[in-house]
Amino acid sequence: MSARQIVIAGGGLAAQRCAETLRRRGFDGRVTMVCAESELPYDRPPLSKGVLAGTDSTAVHFRDAGWYEDNEIELLVGRRAEALDPAARRLELDSGESLSYSELLVATGAVARTLPQLAGFSNVHALRTLADARALAAELAPGSRLTIVGAGFIGQEVAASAVELGAEVTLLEALPLPLAGLLGEGVGRWLADLHEDAGVRMLLGAELTGGRGNGRVEELTLADGSAVACDAVVVGVGVRAASTWLAGSGIDPEAVLVDGAGRTVVPHVYAAGDVCRALDPVRGVHTRTEHWDAASRQGANSALAMLGERAGPVPLPSFWSDQHGVRIQYVGHAEIADRHVIDGDPAQREFSVLYSRGDRPVAALAVGRARELISMRRLIEASREQTTDEIERSRT
Ligand code: FAD
Repeated sequence: MSARQIVIAGGGLAAQRCAETLRRRGFDGRVTMVCAESELPYDRPPLSKGVLAGTDSTAVHFRDAGWYEDNEIELLVGRRAEALDPAARRLELDSGESLSYSELLVATGAVARTLPQLAGFSNVHALRTLADARALAAELAPGSRLTIVGAGFIGQEVAASAVELGAEVTLLEALPLPLAGLLGEGVGRWLADLHEDAGVRMLLGAELTGGRGNGRVEELTLADGSAVACDAVVVGVGVRAASTWLAGSGIDPEAVLVDGAGRTVVPHVYAAGDVCRALDPVRGVHTRTEHWDAASRQGANSALAMLGERAGPVPLPSFWSDQHGVRIQYVGHAEIADRHVIDGDPAQREFSVLYSRGDRPVAALAVGRARELISMRRLIEASREQTTDEIERSRT
């Protein structure tokens, strides 16, 4: 048996994939996972979809407790990584325990951003954890008035699940159209229509100024002087890396940079998932991806790198979203596109969008066209290296 001890800080997807890969590749040393939540590691995408809508009664946990026992993964739940001492190769926990490691994976994910204007109200929710989903689900009932601040994908999915439950939903967005900056006005308009057709009240270009109420917010106030009455609020305005505990470790908590194999700037310390900024070979910059596929692959790749094996290629960013019975799939880098073409009929909820930079495809979005997305992904991957070269040239 190897004398090495691999410690994983975090108990989400990236952590889980790292542990699974270590055992699958035959690592027989100690593996310890430190999870802040008092839950077996679980998957987050169902939280805003089936779990909230009450239609997904299946467990969201990746594995049952027996799997961790059988695979000799020591699971420390309800304990937080608090500090890292790289010289001594020790991870300090909030319980007072100190774990020594031969390799450490930082996989503490992200936490939801909050709005100071709404601090202190008990009916203002985030949606990041299973506990958040349970608290929010308890507020949703037919006729209850839910306002969601932020029409990103999480906000939109919460809106879709809440109308399905019979809630009266208002979706507040500061921009003129949801996600139009990244996906284009046509897609932004289509998303807004999708929600309005399903009964969601869209308030676009709306700037939140504060909330009124005693303990519980009863009304949100907007910059144009109007107000929105509500029984509960969800704030979906993005996330920040859960990395403040790395202060003083030599890794910048503001930017946990990793290379293609997940190595940080500190020897023997790797990072994966939402907490890190992985090197994006297309744009040549480090970015946080905040999507399931990236966290899964980065977790597995870090395990391979720890074992001295060749890590898989850096995946293209990709995500899916389920709203009002429609699956939206996306792959690539629409942020570097200079044009896009919509094919199909958005009104029929069956279309695809190919985003290009010059004549090279760089991203694709598909609604009701899963197979087409696979072929568009291949096209984008094939042109990826040329795109990298082109961007490099445009910089010089
Ligand atoms: P996380 O899943 O956040 O896990 C990190 C874990 O570390 C958490 O359990 C946390 O409690 C723990 N932790 C934090 N700090 C510490 C500490 N100091 N010590 C120990 N443990 C700590 N992506 C998609 O591509 N498609 C989707 O449809 C989609 N839907 C989503 C819906 C919701 C509601 C949410 C919240 C996310 C969704 N995502 C989706 C994003 C996807 O789930 C994340 O990208 C993924 O979970 C990231 O995995 P991770 O392991 O990096 O972080």
